[in-house]
Amino acid sequence: MKLDQNYDIETLAVRAGYTQTAEQENSEAIFPTSSFRYHSAQQAADRFSGAEEGNVYSRFTNPTVRAFEERLALMEGGEACVGTASGMSAILSTFMALCESGDHIISSQSIFGTTKVLFNKYLAKFGLEVTFVSQTDVAEWQAAIQPNTKAFFLESPSNPLTEVADIKALSVLSKSANAYLIVDNCFCTPVLQRPLALGADIIIHSATKFLDGQGRAIGGAVVGSNEVVGEEIRGFMRTAGPTMSTFNAWIFLKGLETLSVRMEAHCIRAQALAEWLDTHPAVETVFYPGLTNHPQYELANVQQTGAGGLLSFRVKGGQENAWKVIDATEMLSITANLGDAKTSITHPATTTHCRVEPEARLKAGITDNLVRVSVGLESVRDIKADLARGLDSLAF
Ligand SMILES: *Cc1c(COP(=O)(O)O)cnc(C)c1O
Repeated sequence: MKLDQNYDIETLAVRAGYTQTAEQENSEAIFPTSSFRYHSAQQAADRFSGAEEGNVYSRFTNPTVRAFEERLALMEGGEACVGTASGMSAILSTFMALCESGDHIISSQSIFGTTKVLFNKYLAKFGLEVTFVSQTDVAEWQAAIQPNTKAFFLESPSNPLTEVADIKALSVLSKSANAYLIVDNCFCTPVLQRPLALGADIIIHSATKFLDGQGRAIGGAVVGSNEVVGEEIRGFMRTAGPTMSTFNAWIFLKGLETLSVRMEAHCIRAQALAEWLDTHPAVETVFYPGLTNHPQYELANVQQTGAGGLLSFRVKGGQENAWKVIDATEMLSITANLGDAKTSITHPATTTHCRVEPEARLKAGITDNLVRVSVGLESVRDIKADLARGLDSLAF
């Protein structure tokens, strides 16, 4: 069914992007085929030359992947979407397609650790220079602009401290610098935040997280204009081949159908949990954009339609007490993954951020007593009880 922007996001999530086959199936079909057949030599020639649109080869044209791409593009309000093998390959494809040796990138310092490694270890080898700045201080971004600045990069809210970047203000700045504003929208998804409407040029997704929502598959996506994403980034993906698997595309396509109700449920649970943690005597600080004491509470309120499923908190005492809280849980998953129906708990300093130098880690606020929770879909009562086991055992 061809749906357009006039439908609400909940409707697009369920129905956009898919054309029923002659079998008249109601649930989307999977097309696990590497190649496609042509009616004639002429048609083959026309498909290869691009004179005729249509399927050629599943590295770059597959109906299941295309359905996912069209659905996500409409949900984000973008013209084009390219599905990729992972969130990291979405980021890699974006920079490989848009940047060249000698270009400069300004990035928030509060980004996914592996993205930092990609910038510092790999893209640096090809002459890309990156300046890391504060997630929340727009003046730092402005001061970092150079004549060769090609892109601004950020994710908001950040992981694990949930700092919120002012996407609108940064888009004004990036436009004045003639640079792309690239936003990793993994934590909010289009249900809670639409970066293109706020002035961003390109959206990155790790579909592995909330888009799947049940921790089953690895995938990613890039969303933006026809010119930049539909041509440049698709061109790189087609040539280099970090393609989304057909089976995974089907999982993500079905994941999108329930995304809006899941995000709403994640937000409700995370809010209740954050408010409860905020009053617990063994907790020093809670980081959640839905709390009125969050430094960017007002901004999050206008930029997002919900505060999200991620929160973190500092346990009174040091690492020992943080680990006690984690190890006392019986139901929660001790894992660094996030965006799952299963609530996960992790100790960032020794897992997701262990490769960051201790001094830089402290400067970024990733203290040894910090615990991150990706709030899932279990009952709030049960999640609280599991966290209370450890917290209540600490004498404060
Ligand atoms: C997980 C994650 C990525 C990387 O995605 P993969 O699918 O694991 O490659 C990128 N950005 C953010 C914010 C993430 O949480």
